[in-house]
Amino acid sequence: MSKPIHIRAVDKTYPPLSPVTTGIKGHCPRCGEGHIFVGFLTIRDHCEICGLDYAFADPADGPAVFVQLFACVPGVIFVVMLEILARPGLWVHLALGVPVLILTGVLPLRPIKGWLVAAQYTTRAQEAGTGALWSQLHNKND
Ligand SMILES: [Zn+2]
Repeated sequence: MSKPIHIRAVDKTYPPLSPVTTGIKGHCPRCGEGHIFVGFLTIRDHCEICGLDYAFADPADGPAVFVQLFACVPGVIFVVMLEILARPGLWVHLALGVPVLILTGVLPLRPIKGWLVAAQYTTRAQEAGTGALWSQLHNKND
């Protein structure tokens, strides 16, 4: 038996929200109040406030690519430059390098994934050939 879905303000008209501000915070791209994530990176089935179905949300490897390009590469450069310039002991690499790589590789994933999901909603981005799915979702919820 499934839990009842409590949907508030389904018929409400929603103003356009910035996918950057709502996505980075992990908030619903339609109402701005609900949440996109149920865990650290797991996307909810629907918004708990407005009922937006997140079936359209599939950023795939996008968050990982952005993190690799803009966060991990600078982290690795930091560790390499630390070795080249200071030649510290192994304990310094363990104390500085490992946390830097973990922080730059893991922490940005959630806000970037939220931003990509919100951008998918705002731009109506979808895989080729799934236009009928978006139309059904969009007409049903707006
Ligand atoms: Zn919502």
